[in-house]
Amino acid sequence: MGLSIAIVGSGPSGFYTAEAVLEKWSDCTVDIVEKLPTPYGLIRYGVAPDHAKTKTVAKSYEKLALDPRVRFFGNVEAGKDVSVAELRERYDAVVLATGCSTDKKLGIRGDDKKGVLGCAAFVNWYNGLPAARDLAPPLDTESVVVVGVGNVAIDVARVLVKTPEEMAATDLMEHAARAIHASPIKQVYMAGRRGPLHAQFTNVELREMGHLKDAAAIVDPAQLPETIPDEAKAEFSDRQLRLIQRNIDTLRDFAKAAPGARKKRVHFVFFANPVEILGGERVTGVRFEKTKMEKGRATGTGEFFEIPCGLVIPAIGYYSLPVPGVPWEGGKAINKDGRIEPGLYCVGWIKRGPSGVIGTNKPDGDEAADQIAADTGGAGKGKPGRAGLEALLAARKVRVVSFADWKRIEAAEVARATPPAPRRKFATVAEMLAALDASGSAAAPARAAAQAD
Ligand SMILES: Cc1cc2nc3c(=O)[nH]c(=O)nc-3n(C[C@H](O)[C@H](O)[C@H](O)COP(=O)(O)OP(=O)(O)OC[C@H]3O[C@@H](n4cnc5c(N)ncnc54)[C@H](O)[C@@H]3O)c2cc1C
Repeated sequence: MGLSIAIVGSGPSGFYTAEAVLEKWSDCTVDIVEKLPTPYGLIRYGVAPDHAKTKTVAKSYEKLALDPRVRFFGNVEAGKDVSVAELRERYDAVVLATGCSTDKKLGIRGDDKKGVLGCAAFVNWYNGLPAARDLAPPLDTESVVVVGVGNVAIDVARVLVKTPEEMAATDLMEHAARAIHASPIKQVYMAGRRGPLHAQFTNVELREMGHLKDAAAIVDPAQLPETIPDEAKAEFSDRQLRLIQRNIDTLRDFAKAAPGARKKRVHFVFFANPVEILGGERVTGVRFEKTKMEKGRATGTGEFFEIPCGLVIPAIGYYSLPVPGVPWEGGKAINKDGRIEPGLYCVGWIKRGPSGVIGTNKPDGDEAADQIAADTGGAGKGKPGRAGLEALLAARKVRVVSFADWKRIEAAEVARATPPAPRRKFATVAEMLAALDASGSAAAPARAAAQAD
């Protein structure tokens, strides 16, 4: 008898797991349980709206979702609509792929002031995650500090300074475009505790900052090393050293380039450890301690400086919230090589924490498939699987959004976009469901059991 497998979460790690198990067992069934009516996790709500090419990876996930052995249960939240224990009763294997959705806090004095917004919240807001719709970030400021020198920090800085024309062919949310483009923001400071050798940007993302229409990238050449020091050569692999060299070269180009007529600035500030958020109720600036690198660590020098700003966006990492009924520690599910316990597995960011690119999640899917193979021998135990979940959700009157339903939502988003924008995303779940109803779907409460698509 074929295995019945439930995957909770439809981001990259969920789909890579689906791919791995479908390849391993031709007779398995795979049900993907997703709390939103929309699939793809951070591909839709994290990846920057102006990076359409990155999002095309979703096409390969769509192929998997359309495999006859796979069923998408959108708008179903594990821990709310169905518990993990209930899934485990019904499936031979349950794989958690729920990602990391919450911001790490700066943990310094003043970080609870109005005007300090985590990057997860901010990115979700401009990308249209329904829960972030009403964030209303205070953009009524000329100056923003983004804490962090990685790709997410760069995404945030770029979206803040790109012109409406540069964003026209993107799926930036309308409410975000209106607010950002009406804001007086002129200066964005990206500040990192460590130096340029330890910055986490990929070179393509960094170089992009040199090609913005109305914003110049500003770098202090004194913060760039002449050559990579021997100490760093011991710390990094050859591949990392090549990337570091490319980044240093790019930063040097920025340092040399004249801003010209561009009115906005993105400043790269290294060796700057934020120690206090300044202001009264609302942020007025950030106080930093200058650092120096010692044995790969940033240590304080006792010298301080301040950057005035009205908005601070820490982009220092994400962590995941516990899924009820799952052992949790340090923002991750407690697991050994992806196995939480026999029958329950985890992949992607809830397994490893928030690191790596989309493709980094792929080996997790392979590993989960191997663990399932080791625990089950590849044979199902005759659990009810899909029929059991459908019956439970129908009894609870959960409105399940199938993959075909999602395609109707997507078609409506594409249809209402103003070219050259590829789509105009719905901002709330209610809008998505209304679009579905308007599209003539047979969707109705308690129709989960009747889903044939
Ligand atoms: C701002 C940002 C930009 C990024 N840009 C890039 C990029 O340009 N290129 C790149 O390669 N990588 C990028 N990444 C990294 C990439 O997005 C991640 O590696 C990847 O999305 C992690 O996959 P995941 O499946 O673990 O989590 P996610 O993508 O977060 O997917 C988790 C899914 O689980 C669902 N879920 C959560 N809880 C439940 C529940 N209880 N029940 C049911 N479903 C649930 C969520 O709704 C979501 O759909 C970016 C990350 C961020 C944060």
